[in-house]
Amino acid sequence: MSALATQHGAVNLSQGFPNYPVSAALIALVDKYMEKGWNQYAPMPGCMPLREQIAQKVSDVYAVAVHPESEVTITAGATQALFTAMATVVQPGDEVIIFEPAYDSYRPSVEVFGGKVVPVRLLAPDFAVDWQEVRAAITKKTKLIIVNNPGNPSTKIWTDSDWKQLQQILQDNAVFLLSDEVYEHIVFDGQKHKSVLSYPALRERSWVVASFGKLLHTTGWKLGYVIAPPLLTQEFRKVHQFNVFSVNTPMQMAIAEYLKDSSCYLDLPAFMQEKRDFLVKGLLRSRFSVVPSEGTYFLLAGYQQISGQPEREFAQDLTINHGVATVPVAAFYSTPCEQKLVRICFAKDGDTLSRAVELLQKV
Ligand code: PMP
Ligand code: GLN
Repeated sequence: MSALATQHGAVNLSQGFPNYPVSAALIALVDKYMEKGWNQYAPMPGCMPLREQIAQKVSDVYAVAVHPESEVTITAGATQALFTAMATVVQPGDEVIIFEPAYDSYRPSVEVFGGKVVPVRLLAPDFAVDWQEVRAAITKKTKLIIVNNPGNPSTKIWTDSDWKQLQQILQDNAVFLLSDEVYEHIVFDGQKHKSVLSYPALRERSWVVASFGKLLHTTGWKLGYVIAPPLLTQEFRKVHQFNVFSVNTPMQMAIAEYLKDSSCYLDLPAFMQEKRDFLVKGLLRSRFSVVPSEGTYFLLAGYQQISGQPEREFAQDLTINHGVATVPVAAFYSTPCEQKLVRICFAKDGDTLSRAVELLQKV
C-alpha cells in the first residue's frame, strides 16, 4: 500500500511508521558515539549499557527484575527477535497458535521452520478471545502461542480475565509463549499495559519482544530486544549468533544514554492519544465509522455506509481515487474475512492528519 500511495501521490496512512522528525537529542547522541569511536561490532547479546538500561526500565515500569547479562538480548528490530525466537523453538510438525488478525510476520516465520499455524480468529468491534476455542486449538503438538498486546491491527488490550485464562490454560500444558509487546508504551485513556513479565507463571516460559522503532519513532533504525529467562535466552542466542551476530553499536550506545530520561516513554501515550483523538474527531464528521482504539498507533475505520466493495478493492480505490492509503484489515487474516474495515496509521504530523481527515470527509 505504501508503494501504491507513492505511485498515486496519496497521503500514506497505510504502513505503520511516523513521518515527523526524530528527537534531535537522540540523533546528537548517535553522532557523539560514532565520533567517539563506537563503530565496530557490538558484543553478540548487545551493548551492556543498553541491556542495563532496559533492565532499569523494566524495573521502573513493571517492578520486575530482569538480569541484563542472562535475560536481555538486543536484536535488529522486533521482527528479527520474533523470527529468532521461533527458530529457537519451532520444529517440523509443531503447531503454533496465533490470534488473527495478526501481524504479518508470524505465519511465514512459523512456516519456514516447518511449523503449522493454528489461527484463532478474533472479530471486530471488540476482538474478544473465545477461550474455549483456544483450549480446543491446543493439541499434543502445540509448541508455542504468540500473543500481541496492544494488538496490531486489532488495537485492543487484553483484560485481566484474558490473562487469567491464558495462565490457566498454560498451567496444564508444556507450551512456550512469544509475547509481542512492541506497543507497550502506546496505550490510551489511562490504561496500563500488562506485560507478560509481570506474570511469573507466564514469564518462565516466554520470550518478550520490544521495539525501539515504536518507542523512539525510529522504525528505520531496526533495533529492538528480547527478554527471556536464562535458559530460553541461551537458546535464543545460539541462533542469534549465527543469524545476525550483533547489531548497530553507536545506536545502541545512544539509546542507552537517551533512555536514562524516562520522559521518552512516559510522555508517549499522551503524544499519541492526541493524534488518535484528532483523527477520531475528524472521522466522526465523515461517513466512516470508528472502532475504538485502546493502543498502538492505528485506528480501524468501517466503510459500511460508503461502499459494498471488498476491503482490498476499497483500500485501492481510496488510495487511487480519494488520495488516502490505508490497509485492508482482511490482509491480517489467513482465510477470507470481510468486515468492511481499513487500518489507518495516525503516527503522523498535524498537517498530514489534517489533510487526511479533509480527504476522508469527502468520501
Ligand atoms: N510486531 C508488531 C505487532 C508490529 O506492528 C511491528 C511493526 N510493524 C513489529 C512487530 C516489528 O517491529 P520492528 O520494526 O522493530 O521489526
Ligand atoms: N508494523 C508496521 C505495520 O504493521 C510496518 C511493518 C512492515 O511494513 N513490515 O504497518
